[in-house]
Amino acid sequence: MSTYGTKQVICAVCEAESVQTTIVSASRAGAADLDLRAPRTERDTIHAWLQECPACGFVSADISVASEPEIAAFNAGVGALGDAEPGSGAELMQRFQRRAAIENVLGDLRAAGFRSLNAAWVADDHDLPEAIERRREAADCYSRYLATDPPDEEANHLGVMLIDILRRAEVWDEAEGYCDWLAARDTRPIVQTIVRFQGEAIARRDAAVHTMKDLEAARV
Ligand SMILES: [Zn+2]
Repeated sequence: MSTYGTKQVICAVCEAESVQTTIVSASRAGAADLDLRAPRTERDTIHAWLQECPACGFVSADISVASEPEIAAFNAGVGALGDAEPGSGAELMQRFQRRAAIENVLGDLRAAGFRSLNAAWVADDHDLPEAIERRREAADCYSRYLATDPPDEEANHLGVMLIDILRRAEVWDEAEGYCDWLAARDTRPIVQTIVRFQGEAIARRDAAVHTMKDLEAARV
């Protein structure tokens, strides 16, 4: 069981006070997906990953802190409230999209990619048809970030995630291209195994979810 607490915070944009949910401890059981998505038990805390100011709608991991460019972007309308029903899965998905939009404007492509991916995970868990679109947005951010030539370790880690995101978004050619790219630069056995497993799944046009456990079972 995950446990939660609450915290009184003051919004850095509009100075309104609100009570936000905090995660005290998250339970973890089961295997991560191949895009490194946490198992279901841990992912259940996703509603508390971002705070939202009830007064102005500003969204951030911690709404009590915001940089000047961040406040300017939000005040210019980036990351403004969506049209989803309050409390719905769509609303939670849009919360992550709104944060992704802010990160994009700030030029943090890695963070924008991660928030788009979080939005896809919410869509998965609520059976929303937008999951594929959110994955394509995440893939776009991550590929643009990889083009900026980040350090090898980080690039290889993102490469593993990106292949799975592209496969699940049915962007087959690009997914295949990143398999070749990663296989040539990261020779660790686990990475070579993942790439082979993904290559086979891509070849049979398999866009289903696969976990690290499937990898062991397949012994590719
Ligand atoms: Zn506010």
